[in-house]
Amino acid sequence: MVILKSTYKFRAYPSKGQKAILNHQMFLCKELYNHLLEKAKQHFKDTGKTFTKYDMIKWVTKFKKENPEYNEAYSQVLQNVPDRLSKAYKNFFRRAKEKRGGKKIKVGFPRFRNFVSSLTYPQSGFKVEKKKVDLSKIGRINFVGHREIEGDIKTLSIKKTKSGEWYITISVEKEDTIPFKNGKEAIGIDLGLKEYATLSDDTRIPNPRISNKSIGKLKTIQRRLSNKKKGSKNRRKAKIKLARISEHIARQRDDFLHKTSHRLVNSYSLIAYEGLKITNMVKNHNLARQITDASWGSFTQYLCYKAESAGCRVVGVNPRNTTRTCSRCGNIQDIGLSERTYLCQKCGLKIDRDLNAAINILTTAGHAGSNASGDIVRPRFEANVVESGTILGGLR
Ligand SMILES: [Zn+2]
Repeated sequence: MVILKSTYKFRAYPSKGQKAILNHQMFLCKELYNHLLEKAKQHFKDTGKTFTKYDMIKWVTKFKKENPEYNEAYSQVLQNVPDRLSKAYKNFFRRAKEKRGGKKIKVGFPRFRNFVSSLTYPQSGFKVEKKKVDLSKIGRINFVGHREIEGDIKTLSIKKTKSGEWYITISVEKEDTIPFKNGKEAIGIDLGLKEYATLSDDTRIPNPRISNKSIGKLKTIQRRLSNKKKGSKNRRKAKIKLARISEHIARQRDDFLHKTSHRLVNSYSLIAYEGLKITNMVKNHNLARQITDASWGSFTQYLCYKAESAGCRVVGVNPRNTTRTCSRCGNIQDIGLSERTYLCQKCGLKIDRDLNAAINILTTAGHAGSNASGDIVRPRFEANVVESGTILGGLR
């Protein structure tokens, strides 16, 4: 049996009074987080040992007794704070062990926070009804629900964006009953800048145009912002406007990513993509802007969690040499960043650069089937996203 996890996100409309309570609770969570981090650091200094999640939970209980003002927040919401911090710790240790291209990567230790912009109710303290939710210690909040919620509700978060909009995120779990294989073609996918994606069957997915237009707007506001005096009312206004446009762009981009990934998982039985390329390329300064906008990370994540129910497998493969290898004869040669055509010096193959890479990506995934530990790279997931890279975890 496979459990599918998914999340729903709805725009929420807390009242003025509720906003004040929410803001205050977020403030309490921030304070608690920082106190806890301080304590954890001190503990390590004193004993040389990591402050475990269990230690954290115990400490929070004690802290609450000594600081009764924290009783204004729902206890489960406060207990989510050690959850967050221990996750941050875990990420730190996991990433500190990772290597990129043979080199150790630099990782920041969990830092003190200036603000917390979301509250999470794990398991209890809330009740979801049609288009409204009852939150313990806060009250009934209306939200716009355009999708029916299916499955068992696991956690609920309420979040404030930079422009001051509120959202409710509900994560659910349900049993997957759909058979795994859909019997369609396997495909390699090369994520790029010229096109958003090139598939190994020569399908092209153009970049979404929306964001270029909005980026113009964004630049104008950014320019205006830099002309405004620091700390002034106008600057604050411009900042909110900036956040609003960024959030608008993000929503449009998200829409494109959802639609595209949905189409792909329903059209193919296996989708192979380059697992590590994303993080490597974002480090490239000149391209960073474009790549962040292209948002490959979210895209592959969406592919992964939509795949399961569509009967499709999504795998990340090692990006090594996918651009340099000839997809016909396997010859490896250098190709400049700006060269659009791959011309093999050994067998004479002349092929579009991205198409060549897409074919290689598919080939790598094929080889990896018999040598799973070698070439397949674990796709990266957020906590709530289902893992579909099943080649790794043993095929079903
Ligand atoms: Zn060749």
